[in-house]
Amino acid sequence: MSSSFARAGRVLLLAGLLVSLGTPSRVHAEVPLVWSRAQDGTFSVLTASPGDASHLYQIFEILQRARRELSDRWQLELPMGIAVLIHPDLASYTASTAAPWYVAGVADRAEEQIDIQRIRILIERNTLEKTLRHELFHLAQPDDWPRWRAEGSAMRFAGEIPSAAPYLQLTEAELEAMLAAPSSRDQLARANATAYWWVVRERVP
Ligand SMILES: [Zn+2]
Repeated sequence: MSSSFARAGRVLLLAGLLVSLGTPSRVHAEVPLVWSRAQDGTFSVLTASPGDASHLYQIFEILQRARRELSDRWQLELPMGIAVLIHPDLASYTASTAAPWYVAGVADRAEEQIDIQRIRILIERNTLEKTLRHELFHLAQPDDWPRWRAEGSAMRFAGEIPSAAPYLQLTEAELEAMLAAPSSRDQLARANATAYWWVVRERVP
């Protein structure tokens, strides 16, 4: 999905909603984070806790498999040097992305960077691989795609099937506006669902 949560005015693209995330954790930003970087030549994965770093093998496996599939099946190439930030808490994620707590991840195409939420929660919800694949798709998508095509295609690539009801009578301009600036979590979920089904049905509005 695409949205306009501002980070220095850049356009950000958001991963699937954490529909069952629960209450946001208390904000506590007093202690500065120390980030560790692991690299494989294409991806740099930054973690800020030993617990998160213990998932590095799994994360690189997901990233490299997704990169191969994007190239082989979609003929889409990722840039080199993508940074993937695994945030240890909500305060860090929010400070970096300005995204609301219920958004699982954010892709910044200008910076070639992905930010994702606390890995423990993503694993509990079985959305770690989906979130990483969704955001990688946004870094590889063609520049000239409308938001709805990018969002629906990112969801398909990630294997995300929306549970929200799509809007049945929207114009393309209306859907684009909703995806760019959703007024609520529910509207964003339904706009994403609409984009997904438009892509699946190859609808041209
Ligand atoms: Zn997205």
